[in-house]
Amino acid sequence: MLSELMNQITILGSGTSTGVPQIACECLVCTSTDSKNKRLRTSIYIETSSGQNVLVDCTPDMRTQLLREKIKRVDSVVITHAHADHIHGIDDLRPMCFVQTQNIPVYTNQVTSAELKTRFPYIFLRDKQPGNNLVLGGGVPLLDLTTVPINTPVNIGSETFEFFELPHGRFTTMGFMHKKFAYVIDCHEIPADIIQRLKARQLDLLLIDCLKESSHQTHLTKDKSFNYAQEIGAKKTGFIHISHELEHHRLLAEAQKISPNYFPVYDSLKLSYA
Ligand SMILES: [Zn+2]
Ligand SMILES: [Zn+2]
Repeated sequence: MLSELMNQITILGSGTSTGVPQIACECLVCTSTDSKNKRLRTSIYIETSSGQNVLVDCTPDMRTQLLREKIKRVDSVVITHAHADHIHGIDDLRPMCFVQTQNIPVYTNQVTSAELKTRFPYIFLRDKQPGNNLVLGGGVPLLDLTTVPINTPVNIGSETFEFFELPHGRFTTMGFMHKKFAYVIDCHEIPADIIQRLKARQLDLLLIDCLKESSHQTHLTKDKSFNYAQEIGAKKTGFIHISHELEHHRLLAEAQKISPNYFPVYDSLKLSYA
């Protein structure tokens, strides 16, 4: 039983940008019948102890993910960065706006804010659309963009989040801490000052990028993820954003050789933190 004082996370998706199975691949992981090897694109849903529901990223699988988990409310959205696997489901927030009376705030950094306005002007520049914002038919998602400061506490509803930037190839992505939880995805390394801040937080739970075995220009590989997990020292560490190169049970066994508190996450898994 989860204590009422705990915050809960649902893993909406644990897979890399292609999802697993990957289209047209017949590898052992892609053809596995084990549900833990079926990974929709990476996203999480946080239910805070104060009753705030925060969706992190809007994947192309978002509709399926929200229906599968029977999610009825999204109080706010955090977008980590503007790659397709993190934003291309955003239009499917529209039905949330049919049932919720207030616009949904979307929090992200400056670069991603600009990118969202370019890619979805009908949502994020809706006041500037022709016809005086006259919407016909089913309308548009009523999402309000807020650019967050980096490395400074930010209030989302009654909750305090702290965002930081991580290198993701030529791009950056936004990780964050909320209470005793940290989310570190889509990065190829973690700068030393951020490692220090994560360590100092004495985390209950870390979710960290873990793409594949061999080297990669934009993501953490398995060994790098394991090393960072040990440096950061959270009570529990879950590996996420996983490709078809990593089979769930094998990755679990390898992680647990290092610590019984290390594990690959899988879709629909629920986790909690103080
Ligand atoms: Zn991604
Ligand atoms: Zn495959």
